[in-house]
Amino acid sequence: MKISVDIDRCEGLGMCEAMANDYFEVDEDEDKVTVLDDTPPESDRAHVYAAVQACPVLALTLEG
Ligand code: SF4
Repeated sequence: MKISVDIDRCEGLGMCEAMANDYFEVDEDEDKVTVLDDTPPESDRAHVYAAVQACPVLALTLEG
């Protein structure tokens, strides 16, 4: 499982961080997300998937 970010789409809205701040962090100066760990363990799939689904501009995808 791997988290991918289309950084050009990201508007720094922070929904992903609100849902999973152990995986996503928004830089308030740049209004862009940083993925803290892009290969979550299988045990975190539901948690990470909820955060990916929360992105309103579809900048996040979960592969695998
Ligand atoms: S929810 Fe989407 S737009 Fe907002 S910071 Fe996360 S990736 Fe960027």
